[in-house]
Amino acid sequence: MDDSMSAYSPITQTTGARAAAHTVTLLAALLGCGVGVPAEAHIGVGPAHCTPLPGAQTWLDRHIALWDPVLSQERGYQRPDRVTVCVLEGSLPFADNRTNRVYVRGLDSTNDQITLAHEYVHIAFQHFPSGHDERYVERTARRLIATHP
Ligand SMILES: [Zn+2]
Repeated sequence: MDDSMSAYSPITQTTGARAAAHTVTLLAALLGCGVGVPAEAHIGVGPAHCTPLPGAQTWLDRHIALWDPVLSQERGYQRPDRVTVCVLEGSLPFADNRTNRVYVRGLDSTNDQITLAHEYVHIAFQHFPSGHDERYVERTARRLIATHP
């Protein structure tokens, strides 16, 4: 894992910036970038609806299959039947465990791919403590993108 992490050093800074964004508000800090936010909590902070992101959806569906053997080695992994990628209208990407939706801005960069993988990991490990551990989730997301870009 150290090798893959160091191979990814060019994006360490932007990843760090995103990690900082996760903790920028008290709400986000408490909720762990919004994963598992009750539907009512979305009122006033973001849309409860989903505007699909077709390109990112296709990409995620393909990568979920690629990541499956990797994640199957991890305790607590439960491959979801379906995860829907929605357009993020707020500022903080998040995963909604109740609807199996992830809200992201787009898929224009490696950093965006890691963000989408990160939110997916929240969903795939939602019934296990690691799915609520931001450091584990981020580390796993980066490993997935390093091995399956
Ligand atoms: Zn997170």
